[in-house]
Amino acid sequence: MPTFIVDCPTCKAKVAAEETGRAEDTGFDDEAGEPYGWRLLVGKCPRCNTPLAAQSRQLRFEGWEGEDDDVWSDAVRVHPKPPKTFSSFRIPHSVTASLTEADIALQGNANLAACVMFGRALEALCRDVLLTTEEKKAALAGTGKKKIMLAEGIKQLREKNFIDSRLFDWSQHLHAFRNLAAHPDSDATITRQDAEDLQAFVYAIIEYIYDLADRYEEFRERQSARKRPRPSAAEMFASVLPKDRK
Ligand SMILES: [Zn+2]
Repeated sequence: MPTFIVDCPTCKAKVAAEETGRAEDTGFDDEAGEPYGWRLLVGKCPRCNTPLAAQSRQLRFEGWEGEDDDVWSDAVRVHPKPPKTFSSFRIPHSVTASLTEADIALQGNANLAACVMFGRALEALCRDVLLTTEEKKAALAGTGKKKIMLAEGIKQLREKNFIDSRLFDWSQHLHAFRNLAAHPDSDATITRQDAEDLQAFVYAIIEYIYDLADRYEEFRERQSARKRPRPSAAEMFASVLPKDRK
């Protein structure tokens, strides 16, 4: 029986799961003008018997752009503990891309790399929240004068009341771990448990700043819509009724 290498969240280790099921979708994306391939693999952890599902993406395609073989990415676990999803559409790609990288690093026990990515996600969040639209455009074009680094960003988030004192405290810890992880002269190690705590924190701060803020805004809109006096039937149909009926 074929196996696939996947991270078991119970054993906190990479294991070779026996593949007992597979769903595959391959084809040609006319819009993108290139082939695509996805696989969902199902199996069980050989050590603890936890059922595991993982996803793999096709990276190279035999016969496409001179490739000799099909090549698939490492399998990334989607069950249990699937990758986190957020509801807000305002979260910039620079934030979510860093979180995805961090999750892949964590699953491979690359805790230092994960912490660097958490710092990157938080830094991107700071820039998104604290810079004006013009400043962001200038930053993208490489002409920006204002560049917010992590330490300064965290300070401003607190000063401008985007976060409370507990989230500020967490941010300071994340900053310290990020510095430890990013500097090659420190022989620091970061445990998976610490890295997972930092992941939970980064998720919390993103949820707080984007998802909860959006939800609160929608809630308030519904509340004020309810308070508005309802128009009378005559007012509602004023434009469609003949003049003498008004
Ligand atoms: Zn296991």
